[in-house]
Parts: sequence; C-alpha cells; structure tokens
Amino acid sequence: MWTEPDVMVIGGGLAGAEAAWQLAQRGHKVSLVEMKPVAMSPAHQTPLLCELVCSNSLRSDEPVAGAGLLKQELRRAGSMVIDAADAHAVPAGSALAVERFGFGRAVTTRLALHPNVRIERRVVDDLPAKTPTIIATGPLTGGGLATKVRELFGGDRLFFYDAIAPIVAADSIDPEHSFRASRWGKGDDEGGDYINCPLDKTLYYEFVREIAAARKISAQGFEEMRFFEGCLPIEVMVRRGEDVLRHGPMRPVGLDDPKTGRWPYALIQLRPENQYLTAYNLVGFQTRMAYPEQKRIFSMVPALANAEFLRFGSIHRNTFVDSPNILGDQMQLLAQPNLRFAGLITGVEGYVESCAMGLLAALFTDANLRGKTLEAPPETTAFGGLFNHIHRPRARKEKFEPTNINFGLMPGLGYKAKKKERKKLIADRAFEDFTPWVQSVLPVSAS
Ligand SMILES: Cc1cc2nc3c(=O)[nH]c(=O)nc-3n(C[C@H](O)[C@H](O)[C@H](O)COP(=O)(O)OP(=O)(O)OC[C@H]3O[C@@H](n4cnc5c(N)ncnc54)[C@H](O)[C@@H]3O)c2cc1C
Repeated sequence: MWTEPDVMVIGGGLAGAEAAWQLAQRGHKVSLVEMKPVAMSPAHQTPLLCELVCSNSLRSDEPVAGAGLLKQELRRAGSMVIDAADAHAVPAGSALAVERFGFGRAVTTRLALHPNVRIERRVVDDLPAKTPTIIATGPLTGGGLATKVRELFGGDRLFFYDAIAPIVAADSIDPEHSFRASRWGKGDDEGGDYINCPLDKTLYYEFVREIAAARKISAQGFEEMRFFEGCLPIEVMVRRGEDVLRHGPMRPVGLDDPKTGRWPYALIQLRPENQYLTAYNLVGFQTRMAYPEQKRIFSMVPALANAEFLRFGSIHRNTFVDSPNILGDQMQLLAQPNLRFAGLITGVEGYVESCAMGLLAALFTDANLRGKTLEAPPETTAFGGLFNHIHRPRARKEKFEPTNINFGLMPGLGYKAKKKERKKLIADRAFEDFTPWVQSVLPVSAS
C-alpha cells in the first residue's frame, strides 16, 4: 500500500467523490478526507459519501433543461456519481431521482474498493501546504478550515444567508410594458441595457401586500437566520415598511418612461445575466418566497405577466469563495496553485452542478500533474457555461452570485429559430461541441 498520496481531496460530497474517482481512474493515488462521522454538519446524517442532504432529485433528465443537458455531458465524461444515480433511480417522471441510501452506499463502496483511493475519516482544520489538493467541503464547510477559508478567500459574506434573485428569459419579457433605460440616461457602465418594468401606485401597494402575505420558505431548524445587510430579501424589506422597496430596489428616480415622459411610481429593473442578453435577473429581488408564490406575485407586474423563470429566487446558508478573483484558468488558487476548490464552494448551486465542478477540478489537476495545461470546456456547453460563470472576471460593481445551470449561461444561437426549438438546438450544439473536448481528456480505457 502506498503512503504518500499524489493528490488530496477534502470533502466526500458530490464534488469530492467525483473528483477522487476521476483522479484515481487516471492513475493518481488519492487521499479522500471526509470529516463524517467524526464530525457531522447540521444537515448531514449518515457516514455515507455523496450524501444528498435534502431533496433526492437530481432534477430534470431532459437535455432541453439545463440540469438534463449537464447530466448528459457528465455521462459522456464518465461521471461515476451520475452512473451510480442512474443505477439507483426511482420513478420521477422526466427527472432523475434516486434512492438516496442505495446511491450513497454505491458511491462509498466504489471509492472504498478503488486501489488508488484511500478514505480518511477526519476533520481537516487547515489548508495543506504542499500536496496538490482539491477542497470540496461544500456549503457547510466544517472545522478550522471554515474559518481559514473565510479569512483568506470568502470576505465577509461567508456564513451569511445567501439570497439570490430570480432570472427570467429575455424573450419572455413583454416589450409593450417595459422600457430600456439606464438611470439618468448614463452610459453602459451604469447599466444602459437595463430593462425597466413599471408599476403604477395602486399596483405597487397591491404587490407589496402580496409579498408580505406570501408563503416563505422557512429556515431549517439548525440554521440561524442572519442576513447580509447589503443583500436583504425583499420580504424583509417589506416588513420594514411598505415604501421601503420603492426607495430601494424599486426606486424609479432617473428613469423616464417613454410612454409618459415621467418616472413611474415604482419599477423592477432587469439586468442582463449574460453577455448573450438571453437572460435577465430581477435586480435586488433576492427572496425566500416559495416558488409558486414568486411566479404568481411577479406575474402581477405587466411586463412579467408571461415571464419564463430560468431560476427562482432562493435563500440558504452558503459558503462560497470569490472564485473570479482568486482562481486561475485551471481552477487553481492563484495565491497557492497546488490548491483547487471544487463543488458548491466555487459558486455553483445544486447537486449536479457541484458534481460537474468536482469532475472539472479533477481534470485540471490531472493535466497539471502530467505537466500539461487543459483547455477550458467550450463556452457553448453546459460545463463551459458553468466554468465561465465562476471564472469570468467581473466589473467591480457586479456581485459574484452562485448559479445553477441554465441556458442563460450559454451563448444564443446567433440565428433566428422558432422559440419552441431554441433549447433543443442549443442542447444539440452543446453536446456536439462537448464530445471532442471530453474525448481528449477521458482516461485511456474509457475513450
Ligand atoms: C440544508 C441544505 C439543503 C440543500 N438542499 C439541496 C437540494 O435539495 N438540492 C440540491 O441540488 N442542492 C441542495 N443543497 C446544496 C447542496 O449542498 C449541494 O448541491 C451539494 O451537496 C454540494 O456538493 P459539494 O460536494 O460541494 O458539498 P457537500 O455535498 O456538502 O459535501 C461536502 C463534504 O465535505 C465534508 N466536509 C466539510 N468540511 C470538512 C472538513 N473541514 N474536513 C473534512 N471534510 C469536510 C462534509 O462532511 C461533506 O461530506 C442544499 C444545501 C443545504 C445546506
């Protein structure tokens, strides 16, 4: 048995389990260090690796949905986690849902039996100094490592509840009831491409009342509700007064509605979510209202009456690093290139996305160990879209927010196509572009 690993992977969740497997399959000796059951996060309940802490669904399995497309790419890349999920699937319509214990046992067994993997059950309290390491400790990073990561890479938002705002598809925003303008008509750096969705006085107060009364997702018992003051959910603002939104994210000042030549009573601003202008987020509209409530209440705004939500707002405790500023193009930590982050902690959301970022971090590590540089996945693929999200440098004012996989992360088609066919065409293109990229990185036996 070997003593010194080639690579250490910290955290045996969705990302860490996948990363350890991929590296082991490529001949590297891997120490997979998992703190369970020595220490358990408030959400984890079993000693199994790859534990699904909440839902047992890995979401849609159809390529015309973001999560489905990403899973298709993961399968093509030889993902062990998705393979185990397929083997333990339970009927769930077009979604891939799993029997979670069978799934966790399968992943744990496969890793435990792999000759290149050693599973160590202990809490990691510090960053390793020399060994190439992937840190995949997830949203509930524990031990001294949590403090270390926060101090060095997380800024003051680590451990706060993270609220995210909904995202809507650009072509579902009603142009008749919205207008493009930046505040005070300022140039692009002030957001000349904002789409503004006005509300009159009566509608504004009705809207605020509905937000106040809406069903909210409550925090898990173990979580203490402490919000980041600079990123308050709208329902918290509404609780502070019915005009708070009108003076906050819904303030109309400096925004002339071309229909009236005046500022509306209130408005929702939509900001492009990507460089392709196919998706827009509701600026300042982070919320923990239940999804059906979000759809119902936001549809009261005339411009959003038929909005297609690519992502709903949500809120949960989160631990993520400032990836665009601290990670290089091989997912390496710029300040200490033998370290990489992977999984949810890089600023992606969801089981499948975390798994994908574990796989990608392993590919970058493998290339590095062989003295090579790996080209990033094409931007037209789901992998590429997620990678660009965590890697793309941002303007100083643009906040880095975690994302799940959605079609807004990939470029539009660049030609006209019927709306119904667009996602299928983007998905086909993604798979076509992904195949040659992934073939060059598959382990010899799998290619
Ligand atoms: C309460 C809650 C509910 C969620 N519900 C969902 C959901 O329904 N659907 C969904 O898609 N996503 C959900 N998520 C997000 C989910 O956590 C991620 O999608 C996914 O689990 C992240 O994968 P990961 O590998 O990055 O982290 P994890 O799966 O959390 O794995 C991290 C692993 O690292 C270990 N670890 C942590 N610190 C240390 C340390 N210092 N030393 C050694 N080991 C350590 C942990 O024990 C854990 O096993 C939820 C998150 C939370 C907190």
